[in-house]
Formats: sequence, structure tokens, C-alpha cells
Amino acid sequence: MSLDQFVDRLRNGEPAKFPSTANTLAWAQSLDEQDKLSHLRDEFIIPTKASLKKKSLDGRIPGQPAQNGVTNGASHEGDEQGIYFVGNSLGAQPKAVRQYVDAQLETWASIGVAGHFQDMEESPLPKWQDLAEDCAKKSADIVGSSPEEIVIMNTLTANLHMMMASFYKPTEKRHKIILEWRPFPSDYYAIESQITWHGLDPEKSMVKIEPDDSYLIPTERVLSVIDEHSEETALLLLPGIQYFSGQFFDMPRITAHAKAKGITVGWDLAHAAGNVELKLHDWDIDFACWCTYKYINAGPGSIAGAFVHERHGKVEWPQGESGKPSYRPRLTGWYGGDKSVRFKMDNNYVPIVGAGGFQVSNPSAIDLASLSGALSVFNKTCMRDLRSKALVLTAYAEYLLDQMTAEFGGSTPAFRVLTPRDPLQRGTQLSVMLASEQLHDAVSAALEANGVMCDKRKPNVIRVAPVPLYSRFEDVWRFMEILKGALAKLNA
Ligand SMILES: *Cc1c(COP(=O)(O)O)cnc(C)c1O
Repeated sequence: MSLDQFVDRLRNGEPAKFPSTANTLAWAQSLDEQDKLSHLRDEFIIPTKASLKKKSLDGRIPGQPAQNGVTNGASHEGDEQGIYFVGNSLGAQPKAVRQYVDAQLETWASIGVAGHFQDMEESPLPKWQDLAEDCAKKSADIVGSSPEEIVIMNTLTANLHMMMASFYKPTEKRHKIILEWRPFPSDYYAIESQITWHGLDPEKSMVKIEPDDSYLIPTERVLSVIDEHSEETALLLLPGIQYFSGQFFDMPRITAHAKAKGITVGWDLAHAAGNVELKLHDWDIDFACWCTYKYINAGPGSIAGAFVHERHGKVEWPQGESGKPSYRPRLTGWYGGDKSVRFKMDNNYVPIVGAGGFQVSNPSAIDLASLSGALSVFNKTCMRDLRSKALVLTAYAEYLLDQMTAEFGGSTPAFRVLTPRDPLQRGTQLSVMLASEQLHDAVSAALEANGVMCDKRKPNVIRVAPVPLYSRFEDVWRFMEILKGALAKLNA
């Protein structure tokens, strides 16, 4: 059975059907050998067991030549690469980021303010004035839109507010926002405060979709909540992938249903962008926001992205070019202004056509350089290929987990997987709920001792994300061996 055949099965919604030999290291390695994306791992710096213990800087970067020319760590005994399964929280560092940021620092140091308008030969980056648009171009495949529908600015929660300022227009009749029962707290606060800011009562204007008996929300339930509140709802704002359960919502179906009822539709793609295939334009979504430090790997707190559908980014001239332009109302600032007039400083605002017209401030060129470096890695492949690999990686992790449940079964299983079993309803992440907090502590300690980074949510959930850009099937196998070891010890 080849890797491609597993991909085909999973894409068709069929079970992967891994063979009985799949629980061996050799089998995992045989899949890595077939993986056409395996070279991309070299584009990243994966923390090593030794580097994870560092308490102070020593000028050495794992797997990179040290600044003083001495080759560093990774080849040293006991300094093997760890397992980095926490790309759903903070992606591993692409080597390109340092190169791109260095280029920016050299440009700034060399030509100062002229860097705004002057391209530098041999630089991977365009002049600062064009940098945000360049990042938008490089993001188009990630979210499935035209570059003009993307704006790179601010950070995620700030952008949710910016977008709601334009897209949440409550009226006496239509004032509700539909969300899910447990959104990421920042999204909850953003929605709640928007409602309060409009002088409305969150108790009356927030509609929370409850899950079924586990943590999952069936599509039918979303649709029926939409139906129930359709007359009073102004906005539907859901996560593409739910951060806790890992559920990937049926975005096209939910969007079409809500729009047919006259509801504006926005999506938070924090856990979806760079993780699953998206077609924001074709799905006719009104707006979307995402951060770039999770699956996009641009670094802690890196500059974020937003999508505004083409139809909302139009700039029209009802009285001819000498009159005033008409455009969708929004909060404005000089960087949303068309470049031809941006520096005229004449207080006649003419927005950029497209999502760029929602920008307000001069964005940080250092931030953008970091993002541009991270995106350059995505541009060596495509979301379709990444998703193909991810489908099998995650199904393989699930398969090994299921084997372990059988092994440590008894009357109370040691853990259960919260994430949907249907591969098409999840991204790379599996959320594993352990049977007790004590088990969670023991497993966390074992993972840490073995150089494994994954997300541990108190009281008892670990979120495991084998990101296809830099994770191997071998890593999945090794991870499971470590987990198995921890469970065996507790059982003994
Ligand atoms: C990670 C995440 C955030 C974080 O918001 P910031 O503004 O980047 O701090 C918000 N919402 C969701 C759903 C997230 O997953």
C-alpha cells in the first residue's frame, strides 16, 4: 500500500485501512521515504532535546551553524531533534525567517528611510511600501482567494474588531451574533464587547450553539440554530477549526445556509489557515481573520491576515472621478488609502480597491519580513499537497492511539479522542482527553522528559498536531511509543 493510496482513500472519506505491520518503526519510515514533501523539514529549526533545556542564550541555534563558525549542537551526542507537535500553538521556526529579517535589518541600516521606496537587489523582499501586498500574494493559496482579497495587518483579535466594525451593523430587528458555545476566549470577548459597544445586551444578542453530548457540533445543529434565529441575526461568526476539539466545520454549507437567510458570515481561521484547504472566495464568505504564528510559522505574535470578499472591497465613483468615492463603511487610516494619494496628505480619503482598503496603519516591516520568510516555505509546495500528507499523518496517529486504547483498555480506557473520527472534519490536530488529571500530569511529564512538545490543556487534554511541513511518520510513531511507555508505567 503506497502513501498515495492512503491519501486517495482518506480524501474519498474511506478508512485508511493501515496494515497490521503499521505499528512498527520500519513501516513509519517506509512512508517517510515515499513522502515527496520530506525535504521541507530541512527548512525548519526543530528544537533539540538539549536546546529545550536551555536556560540562557549561548549563540547556538539547534541544527544551525553557530555565529562564531563552530557547528552547533544537533550532531552532538544526546542532542537529537525533539518531536514538535505544537504547531497548532506556535509553529516551528523556518530558517528563512532569520534570512528575511536579516535582509530587512541590512536594508534599514544601509539606506534608512529610503527603504520605503527603494527595492534592493539580492534582497528576498520588495521595498517596504509593497511588503504587505507581497505577503498577501504569497497567502492566496493558503486561504483560496485572490491576493486583492487579503490584507496583512495587526493581529487576530484586533482584526476581528476591525472587521466587525464594518460587518456587524445591528438594527433593532437584526442584532444577534451567532457563535459557538466555547469559542476561544478572545473571540468571545470581542463579540461580547462589540455588542455592548453598540449599546446592546449580550444576553439578548449572543446566540451560542451548543454541542452534542461530546464536544462536537453537528452541522445540522448549526443550520437549525441559524433557522431558529434567522430573522434577528446580523452576523454568524464561527471558527473554521475549533481550537479545543479540532473539529473542522463544514464552512461552505454553513456559509451558504446563513447567507440565504440574509446573514453576514465571518470565520475565524486561526486553526484553519495553513492547516486545511480553504476556498474563501468561492465559498462566498464575507470576511475572515487568521493569525500567522500557528500553522503559518511566522513567529510569536506575528502580523495577522484578513480576507474581505471582492464584492465588499469595491470602490465606486458615482459622481465621476472628480466626486467622492463610495465604498463599504469601515474604520480608516492612511495605509488603507490608495498609494497614488497616500502621501498627498490632503485629507481626501480614497481607499485601495480590495481588502487592502481596510488597512489603517504603516505595518511593521520587521513583522512582515518574518511572515514573508515563513510564507516562502509554503510557496515551495501547495496546500493541496500539504493537506494530502496531513490526512495520512493524522490518521496514522489516530490508528496508533486506537491500538493503545485496546491495549490499555480494561473497563475504563486511559483516554479518548475528542476530535471527529471523519478525517474530512478535522485538520492535523487530535485532541486526546485523558481519563484523569493525574494521568494527564504523568503523561505530560513523560512527554517533556523525552523532548516532545505538544499542547497540554489542564485539567486533562493534550492536543497533538503533527504538522506536515516538518513532521515525519517516524515522529508520530516515536511519540506514541513515549505515550505508551508512560501509560504502561502507570498501569504497572
Ligand atoms: C490563537 C487564537 C486567538 C489568539 O488571538 P490573538 O489576537 O492573536 O492573540 C484568537 N482566536 C482563536 C480562535 C485562536 O485560536
